[in-house]
Parts: sequence; structure tokens; C-alpha cells
Amino acid sequence: MVVVINKEAGTSRNGEQSAVLHRHLNHQFLPLERAEGNYLYTAHGRKIFDGSGGPSVACLGWGNERVVDAVTKQLRSAPYCATIFFTTRVAEELGRFLVDSTNGHMARAYIVNSGSEAMEAAVKLARQFFLEKSSPEPQRTRFIARQQSYHGTTLGALAIGGHAYRREHFEPLLPQNVSHVSPCYAYRQQQTSETDEEYVARLARELEDEFQRMGPDTVCAFVAEPVVGAALGCVPSIPGYFKAVKAICDKYGALLILDEVMCGMGRTGTLHAWEQEGVAPDIQTIGKCLGGGYQPVSGVLASHRVVDALSGGSSVFVHGHTYQGHPVGCAAALEVQRIIQQDNLLENVKDMGLLLSKLLVEKLSSHPHVGDIRGRGLFWGIELVADKKTKAVFPSAAHVSMEICERGLSEAYSLSVYPAGGGGAEGLQGDAIIVSPPYTVTKEEIEMVVTTLARMINDYFEVGTMAVGLT
Ligand code: PMP
Repeated sequence: MVVVINKEAGTSRNGEQSAVLHRHLNHQFLPLERAEGNYLYTAHGRKIFDGSGGPSVACLGWGNERVVDAVTKQLRSAPYCATIFFTTRVAEELGRFLVDSTNGHMARAYIVNSGSEAMEAAVKLARQFFLEKSSPEPQRTRFIARQQSYHGTTLGALAIGGHAYRREHFEPLLPQNVSHVSPCYAYRQQQTSETDEEYVARLARELEDEFQRMGPDTVCAFVAEPVVGAALGCVPSIPGYFKAVKAICDKYGALLILDEVMCGMGRTGTLHAWEQEGVAPDIQTIGKCLGGGYQPVSGVLASHRVVDALSGGSSVFVHGHTYQGHPVGCAAALEVQRIIQQDNLLENVKDMGLLLSKLLVEKLSSHPHVGDIRGRGLFWGIELVADKKTKAVFPSAAHVSMEICERGLSEAYSLSVYPAGGGGAEGLQGDAIIVSPPYTVTKEEIEMVVTTLARMINDYFEVGTMAVGLT
């Protein structure tokens, strides 16, 4: 097997440098002109199927007139709300919808603009909970999260995350009182001799040991994604894992924070991914499919336990953003969620998810560089390996999943899927590709996505020489 990795760094696609500081300074950006239905259209007339909604953002596809109308109406009526004195009908209705969707577990919703902001708020809310509960525990300042996790890009959220590459430039991070235990990552970390129960028990022991090592009464919260998105590529946990984790948090009086920024709001087939785990978190974050990309909107859901402590304490959440509870974001999110509910789209997520998983397995599982195919609902990851037997990863400098996804945008395929994994700690840095189409996706579209993706992967690995240490 030989692979050529052909990087033409330094130019944009029309030969001009971008004036905008995007993530990659020397990237070849495609000029996005418009998006309609499940397609993206470039300024050069290219039509690309949106097979992942970027980082799993799109749940309704693009150009939904109901959402556009709701946003426009809100812009015309009350485009901004200073939440120190005011609230809006849309914010109240969205909050009520979110609280009601949790089967009585959550008491209030805090609405912000990005997943990172939601995670920052979640962490501060957890800290404030222990300061204000009836018998305060101010010493609970520590967090336990998981290796190779991603919870956002701002300094607090980055410190909670255990992603080696994303952290290394900014060490020492704030806060520094975070430790990381193993993720629940069966493909790489469950031993062949180990049953699911034994694997869960081993992870539970590791977490319990970490509580003991840190001092159980100093731990504020354990933080995890129910289905790990960008950091690993759609890895669900083994059944029973979150029940075991929640039992340990309860035993030591710590909170459970679940980050559903990527896997939440229907992406895995239930509105909240934790519904499938049989546990409810104390604090939950939501993001991408809350507003489906129509507005930058995210949120934190706080349980009765947390809210009661604050209302019985200072009755102030010592946190705030100028644009929190933004009415236009709330209007978009409310309409997106109404459409998901009224059009029964979670049924389609389940049905099309089953088809997607079946076809991915049929078409890709025998490929010599496809190590694992896993996911839930319409949230699937294909992990690529240099050696299927040993599960050896590609050198991270080769950016294999990024290369494949980038080539997917070319005229030969015209499919947008998303790179994940990579850049992680030893043994955890596998390359993965995320397929996460909108909840409205059709059978024909799923078939086309899988056929095209199989072609992208086949072509990539048949091209040339595997070059390591690339430019
Ligand atoms: N948490 C998770 C699980 C995420 O996937 C992301 C974004 N990929 C974030 C937090 C941060 O969200 P944002 O990029 O909107 O700040």
C-alpha cells in the first residue's frame, strides 16, 4: 500500500491570501456562496453534499424557511435583550422547552453562543454550587475529565479537555486542577480477554482511584461526553459505563457534567444522549444542533440540585455575557426544535442511522485501513489505521483524515465530511472521519454518501507513496 500526500500549502483556491484569521493560515479555502437543502454551493459554481454539517452542526439542512422567518421576525421585533433587567418571550419559551424535555431532571436553561462558553459556564456553575449549597464545600475545586477529550477552545474549557495537541501550545493552563482518566474507548482500550462488564469495572476502578488520589472531598465534578465527537470520532460508551461513573460521583458527592455540545439535541436518536445511558447529569451543555447552524446558540442545563443551591444561597449566578439569552439565537433554536418535534425527525434519525451504519459496515469494514466503524443515530465515525491487525495509527503529521476530507471536496467526489481524532496522546491518536448528515436526510442520500465515501477512502489509499515528515 502506498499513499501520496500532496500538500500545496500557502495559497488559497483563487490564489489570494485570506484576510480572515481562520484556523489554518495557509489553507486553500473554498468560497462558500450559499447553502440550500443538504447542499453547499461555492462561488465557482460547485455543488457539494453536506454530509456532516461541518462539525455536526446541521440538523435541518440549509435554507429552512420556517427558521429564516422566525429569525427575521425576531430581528424586526427585539433583536437584543439586556438580560440584567429584561427577558424575552422566545428565551422563556426556549428555556421551558429545554427544561420540559428532560423529564423533570433539569430546572433551568442558561443560553449562550458557543459550546466553549457553555462549558465555561458549566464549570463555574459547578464551582458556585459547592460554595452556596446549604453546607458549603469550598475545597471542591478539582475536576476529573478524560484523556483525549475536547470540551472547547477557551482557556477554562481547554484545561478541562485532555487533548494533547490542542493543549500543548498553551501550557500551563488555567485552571491547573484537572486530571484525566481513560476514556471509554473499546476499540483501542478494551482487552480482548475482557467482557464489557469487566472493562466498565476497570474504568470505574480507575476513576475511583483518581478520586482517592485527588482527595474525594476536593473533587467538584467529573466531565465527559456521552458519545465522544471530534476528539475520537463518534465513540459511544459501553453499556453501564455512565451508570458506574454516576454512582462514583454520587458516592463522593461530586457533580456529573455531561458535554452534549456535539452529540446532543437529537444527533444520536434521542433528544439528549444521556437518555440512552439511564443516567441524568447534574449539569449538561448543548450546542451545535440546538440552533442547527442558523444562529450561534448553545446552552447549559442545570438540575434542580444545582439551581436550588444557588437560589437558597446568593441567588445570583456570578457569570454573564453581553449576548447571553440572545433573542435571535433563541428564536432560531426554538423554531429548529419545534420542527424536529413536529416533523418527528428523531424517528428519521433512528431509521436513517440504522441504514447508515449498515451500509458503512457493508462497504467499508473489509477495507485494510478501516479499523473501526462506530456511532449512534446519525453520528458515525470511521477510524483509519495504518495496520488493521496491530491498530497502528498513521503519523499525525500525515493528517490522513484531514487529507481525505479535503479531497472529498474536489469535483471527483463533492462530499463534505469531517476529520476527527489525531494529535492525541500515545495510543489514543487514531484518525477518524465523521459522517453526520442532517436529520432530514433521505435513503438515497445516505446511499450516495456511503458510496462516495468508500470511493474517497479507496482512491486515497491506492494513489502513491506514503510520505512521512511532509511539508
Ligand atoms: N464541546 C464539544 C464536545 C465540542 O465538540 C465542541 C466543539 N467542537 C465544543 C465543546 C466547543 O464548542 P464551540 O466550538 O462552539 O466553542
